[in-house]
Amino acid sequence: MVASEAAPFAKTGGLADVVRALPRALARLGHCVDVVIPRYRGIEAGEPMAPVTVPLGGQVAEATIHAVADAGVRTIFVGHPGYFDRDHVYGAAGRDYPDNPERFAFLSRAALEWAASSGERYDAVHAHDWQAGLVPVLARQFMAHALRGVPAVFTIHNLAYQGVFDASWLLRLGLGWELMNVNALEYWNRISLLKGGIVFSRLITTVSPRYAREIQTPEYGFGFDGILRSRSADLVGILNGIDYDLWDPARDPYLPESFDASRLEGKAAAKRMVLEMFGLPADEKARKRPLVGMISRLVDQKGFDLLAELSDELPQLDASFVLLGAGELRYEDFWRALAARHPERVAAKFGYDEAMAHRIEGGADLFLMPSRFEPCGLNQMYSLRYGTVPLVRATGGLRDTVRNVDPATGSGTGFTFDEYSSQALLTTLRRALGVWVAWWLGGWVVSNLAT
Ligand code: ADP
Repeated sequence: MVASEAAPFAKTGGLADVVRALPRALARLGHCVDVVIPRYRGIEAGEPMAPVTVPLGGQVAEATIHAVADAGVRTIFVGHPGYFDRDHVYGAAGRDYPDNPERFAFLSRAALEWAASSGERYDAVHAHDWQAGLVPVLARQFMAHALRGVPAVFTIHNLAYQGVFDASWLLRLGLGWELMNVNALEYWNRISLLKGGIVFSRLITTVSPRYAREIQTPEYGFGFDGILRSRSADLVGILNGIDYDLWDPARDPYLPESFDASRLEGKAAAKRMVLEMFGLPADEKARKRPLVGMISRLVDQKGFDLLAELSDELPQLDASFVLLGAGELRYEDFWRALAARHPERVAAKFGYDEAMAHRIEGGADLFLMPSRFEPCGLNQMYSLRYGTVPLVRATGGLRDTVRNVDPATGSGTGFTFDEYSSQALLTTLRRALGVWVAWWLGGWVVSNLAT
């Protein structure tokens, strides 16, 4: 597998969780998996191995290789100080690094050179997202012989990120101009590395069955719906899973007390801890009020424009809100201002904080994901595991994983709404808070935790 991130070494989103958990799950089924990611600044793990020579754009550079084995999975780190010894993974101050095509082309080629020289006989190469989109292209163009025609699988974790760059990159990366073709990398007079992954792979997967269907429509296809429809026979949606070794309230080291369906006191302790750590009131009255949690990249995709429209309504609800997020400054500003105006009810922390993410999942009563689109989404699944009732827009993987509660029977695992509007979100929030008193602890918390 080749990817730009894998937990615990480098993580900006769900991709890293999946690239950690999926190989381990495959290893448990008896497969051997090597995962190749960049050796970013700060990664100390791994024993040095023989370096590989990487041809790129008429030049040849050396990639250092480090390897570490854990839980039946070997992780290979591709190092190059110029490309990867930087402050961030993708860019700084809201801008991508301008040489990202080159950085990730280097990763892709180095991964293949490593594979060809490793002495292993691979059955498949699995590339994730646009950063690894050149893996199937390079494998076919330059390395078919060395890799004995090993077939490629490409996974789209989020179609919104398409790796679109100026066509001049083709020559700079040493790729032939023949790829500037509508059946290859060409995308509206530019090139797309995501398209390379889609077109040159034997199979394409994405992260939920619903999203696999949605991305073949103009509404969710982001200009790729035609390309994906042309490959629909080879496109399959496989729902992500979560790693219960890392996300399990019965043995989560970040929680103040462990809990499960038969021991819910620990959930109350986590709630208190979250309220206190966010500086919200934590007296008995406040602890009885439902706590709504959010952990998210602060980007349009996640529905923050809907929440911004509800700045007057949210604080009027009988609930407390905590947000942990990083991303666009305008959304940070919004949450900072909302929290300043309503310090008793709203609190936000900005930045990346793994421990706090676990505590929010443990301590919140309701988890909010009003996404505009969502390939799979992991947090709603963590929520289900932690007895935290998800409230989501019924799109993509959210639709596949959260069953709307039926008030007549009480069956269901959370609250869903269809229309992407602040009104629909508000109505659903009110509905959820309305049944809080009657059903909460007795009903879903226990059933979600038990399943
Ligand atoms: P996406 O990949 O689109 O960001 P997912 O729900 O698939 O969304 O995965 C997000 C992952 O990143 C989850 O593991 C979530 O807990 C984590 N995450 C997101 N933002 C933060 C943050 N600010 N601090 C800690 N973890 C975060």
